[in-house]
Amino acid sequence: AVECVAVQKSFDGTPVLKSIDLSVPHGQVMCVIGPSGSGKSTFLRCINHLERIDGGLLRVAGEMVGYREHKGRLHELRHHEIARRRADIGMVFQSFNLFPHLTVLENIIEAPMAVRKNQRDDAVADARRLLDKVGLTGREDAYPRMLSGGQQQRVAIARALAMRPKLMLFDEPTSALDPELVGEVLSVMKELAAEGMTMIVVTHELGFAREVADTVVFMDGGYIVEQGAPAEMFANPQTERCRDFLGKVL
Ligand code: ATP
Ligand code: MG
Repeated sequence: AVECVAVQKSFDGTPVLKSIDLSVPHGQVMCVIGPSGSGKSTFLRCINHLERIDGGLLRVAGEMVGYREHKGRLHELRHHEIARRRADIGMVFQSFNLFPHLTVLENIIEAPMAVRKNQRDDAVADARRLLDKVGLTGREDAYPRMLSGGQQQRVAIARALAMRPKLMLFDEPTSALDPELVGEVLSVMKELAAEGMTMIVVTHELGFAREVADTVVFMDGGYIVEQGAPAEMFANPQTERCRDFLGKVL
């Protein structure tokens, strides 16, 4: 589960997240929509310890993100504490971010071996199982450049899953893909959601949101302007800003 209370983040004195309150219960899927610059990526990066929040409280699976509590006071996390918490969170980016000099298999087994200290044989067996799951059986020796964008993104998902994360974050995972490749990535994500993975997905694929999301959040100007069930929000947005935005995306 993810819990945010009055989460704030500024860059050089400019607030980007002004006060974010939300919760994603275990096993649920939240989709985040909103205009460019509204803070969607920053929000995911805060959850994944790539940025540290400067106000509010953020918890993932009961553990505080950004700080630890000791004797009633907040302290900065040490590097090894950040590393351990990050290992439980999978993140998939718009630009795939695979290691170009490693094969598909090596991309997937790298973190389980380096961070989880898994044995190579176990990591390889797990990677093969995950490649089956994302529909890439037999492509383990390919290098990323030999794969289509949709295939690379499915490898990126398999790589994230290899760490057995408690939470998966997706930042516009299909927006760099040719239209005909979007479906294969979304269907892997749908399957993951159906298996009960807790997910936060920044996406403008409203069909996906409607089908898969338990909740949709509309962010604008550093705030959550609306949140609700997708069918309701899309049919009946409560604010002008959300209505405008949906009009542009649909
Ligand atoms: P998009 O839809 O274009 O991806 P977004 O909603 O993901 O937009 P963010 O990338 O979170 O938006 O950016 C929100 C604001 O924060 C922008 O004004 C951006 O310039 C600013 N910002 C993000 N990261 C940094 C940083 N590291 N340093 C300074 N400003 C930043
Ligand atoms: Mg972004």
